[in-house]
Amino acid sequence: MKAAQISRAGGDWELVERDIPEPDAGQVRVKVDACGICHSEILVKDGLWPGLQYPRVPGHEVAGRIDAVGDNVTPWTVGQRVGVGWHGYHCFVCEPCRRGDFAMCINRKVTGIDFDGGYAEYMIAPAVALAAIPDEVPAEEAGPFMCAGVTVYNALRNSGARPGDLVAVHGIGGLGHLGIQYARRMGFETVAINRGNDKQALAQKLGAHHYIDATASDVVAELQKLGGARVILATAPSAQAISPLVDGLGPSGLLLVPAAPPEPLTINVFSLITRRSSVAGWYSGTARDSQDALEFSALSDVHPMIEKYPLDRVAEGYEQMHSGKVRFRVVLTMG
Ligand SMILES: [Zn+2]
Ligand SMILES: [Zn+2]
Repeated sequence: MKAAQISRAGGDWELVERDIPEPDAGQVRVKVDACGICHSEILVKDGLWPGLQYPRVPGHEVAGRIDAVGDNVTPWTVGQRVGVGWHGYHCFVCEPCRRGDFAMCINRKVTGIDFDGGYAEYMIAPAVALAAIPDEVPAEEAGPFMCAGVTVYNALRNSGARPGDLVAVHGIGGLGHLGIQYARRMGFETVAINRGNDKQALAQKLGAHHYIDATASDVVAELQKLGGARVILATAPSAQAISPLVDGLGPSGLLLVPAAPPEPLTINVFSLITRRSSVAGWYSGTARDSQDALEFSALSDVHPMIEKYPLDRVAEGYEQMHSGKVRFRVVLTMG
């Protein structure tokens, strides 16, 4: 099979031929149809994940079909369309798992980091990492739902915001363009915040009720004019842009950060205290959360905007994603 791998920290993309792998007990083999390129791939490409073993095939936005099933795998069968996301494994026996909090498993594994992912024609996935893909979602759209999609969907649905609450999505990129669609369809009064106005019409088309141009107006004042945000989903990875947003929260508001900026945030704690507001991170979700994201997206007409590249052009696709020029997600197709 063809695969794209990185064989050392900072190494270039290598297209290699490998043997088609066989699934062990508890695993399936997935014939990959499409795999999204995520910003987190930099962890493999540049060696930023402690203890990462090379060579590694990245890719945790996988969509494909079950091609072979190992022992003790139920209820998955050959031919089923499945996705594999960031959360690649949990052990069922550690303390968080015993409490049913599988995403926080202390033995968790990340697809494409702890084991080879979807930049290949085939991959091996633990059965616990599988999400069933609804018939109406094509593979190239299902891929991005497995990381970008589930992350913002799961962050918003667990945020405590209720229908009618003011929810702002900061940044219109890979995560943000999905966040706006989810926020609108979950029944929130939806605000899109971005620099400049070149994405204003798009934000409104995606479902935003309000648009704030961060270069032309005072974001905090605009949010307060709307009553203050119950939730701000901060998807632009800039500490400088995110930190002041706490002042745009309303009472008991939540600044939710699902993607890490490289620098620490500088937070005005007085502002947190007086509004009883908080800042929190959000961690992806389990395979069932991903399946919920897929099903909700099919049901409510949520779509990622994608550019497709064949696997052979992985280096170009990766550069395109990092350039920020892509609208909004690059997806590798296996042909
Ligand atoms: Zn990702
Ligand atoms: Zn566990």
